[in-house]
Amino acid sequence: MQKVAVLYDAGQAVLSTFDLDEVLQRILGIARDFFHLQNVAILLLDADTRQLCVRSQIGWDPGEEKIRLDCNHGISGASVLKKQPVYVPDVSKDSRYVCSARSTRSELAIPLMLRDKVVGVLDCQSDQLHYFDHETIDLLTLFSTQASIALQNAQLYSAERQRARQLEAINKIAQQSTAVMDLEDLLARVCALIQQAFQVSHVSLCLREEGDLVVRSHAGTLTPCLPPGGRLPVNCEPWSGITATGTTLIEKDLSSKPNTFKLFAETLSRMSIPMISFGQTLGVLSLHSAQLDTFRDYDPQALEAVADICASSIQNAHYVERIRQLSYLDGLTGIFNRRFFEMRISEEMERARRCGTGLALVMTDIDQFKKLNDEFGHLLGDEVLRQVSSVFHQQLRKIDVVCRYGGEEFAILLTNTNAQHAIGVAEKLRRLIQAWQFPGVPRTVTISAGVAAFPEHGTTRDELVHAADMGLYAAKQAGRNRVCLTMSTRAAANRS
Ligand code: GH3
Ligand code: MG
Ligand code: MG
Repeated sequence: MQKVAVLYDAGQAVLSTFDLDEVLQRILGIARDFFHLQNVAILLLDADTRQLCVRSQIGWDPGEEKIRLDCNHGISGASVLKKQPVYVPDVSKDSRYVCSARSTRSELAIPLMLRDKVVGVLDCQSDQLHYFDHETIDLLTLFSTQASIALQNAQLYSAERQRARQLEAINKIAQQSTAVMDLEDLLARVCALIQQAFQVSHVSLCLREEGDLVVRSHAGTLTPCLPPGGRLPVNCEPWSGITATGTTLIEKDLSSKPNTFKLFAETLSRMSIPMISFGQTLGVLSLHSAQLDTFRDYDPQALEAVADICASSIQNAHYVERIRQLSYLDGLTGIFNRRFFEMRISEEMERARRCGTGLALVMTDIDQFKKLNDEFGHLLGDEVLRQVSSVFHQQLRKIDVVCRYGGEEFAILLTNTNAQHAIGVAEKLRRLIQAWQFPGVPRTVTISAGVAAFPEHGTTRDELVHAADMGLYAAKQAGRNRVCLTMSTRAAANRS
């Protein structure tokens, strides 16, 4: 009667909840209490590594629960190989015994079977020698079948729930990727959504930029090893392999690979999925876990679907960025246009105000350009405009901004520069153009320039442009081919 009762209890435990850890704890509780055992555990078998790891235990010595046992080790391992219960009445006389609690004297290991496959072990230990009689062994064996069913049910249930959560997340990402045009924003949302849906320690998105992989976004609880925007050299493994082959990589145990580059200090296992658009790997989506072997049951297809959505969004964002840039470029010369200049001068003035750094504006205009057109034709005139732009572009620093302001007039923003220094720069450009041999133009081409500086000649965009224009006008009046500092002060600009 008692036997029936214990099996009934176990059956109830199996049906009472779908939470795997809760089911296993209940089963172990029943086994310990009914059979008066000192410690009991359920170990699960990793089909790939053929290792047993403890999934749930009661009564093991602290620290021992992290043990990973090869199948040819321990009494539990022996029961896996035999597919039969293995009973050792006196553990001190059995060399296979691996200690998990000092008080143990006898041990019974029963394989947990699903059909003909071993999925784990129910391990029972007693502090008495010769503790398990035939009847107890039979009863515990019967009991173990309930544990197997519980295991299977809970695993199926959790896999289903996980899949539902993941599908929901993919759906959300797909919806958001069409709605969100800003790439940074999209990447941040994707990381957060995946982290929640896939219940993983950390998620990162790295994009390929100029040969490197750049960490563009991440979300989670781990400690980053790189600062935001950190770069991974593209030949750094495993990233180079993933981007080269375009295949998903699952790393089960990074603790055994100390040389592998980690993005987060605590990462022990990782899944990396290339983001591919039109056959090109644009970056890598990675899931990082602080536990070993987290991604065994993950569905690569679900995550590859997410990575594909990300890839096409990144591609779209690049196109949008490109179109935006094109609308700021001058069609003839390829340098920035007046629209861009007007946006940048406001930004640069704001920066100069905030940081207390200098900012100078040079307005420059080709002398007698109308005449040049008349003499040599409009097409040659166009070529002169292109060459002047190119000289300016090459001579100035990367941080300076050269724009075609209109016709044959150029606006040059010199960051971190005072009026005196700007005159020097403008003078250098003037001399270069004067000496330049323009093909098809058998005479000298010259420019005039006006210089104004922030804040002394103007503190708003219009004031500063007006001041530089005044300088340019003065240069023309004085006979052209020269640079003039504006005479205009802020007060004068306000009056005009
Ligand atoms: P100044 O020394 O006073 O600046 O005399 P200028 O002849 O250069 O000035 P003006 O403003 O009288 O003439 C500018 C000329 O620039 C008129 C116009 O035909 C020419 N121009 C404007 N845009 C282009 C262009 O895109 N291509 C060519 N070839 N010429 C252009
Ligand atoms: Mg001119
Ligand atoms: Mg002009």
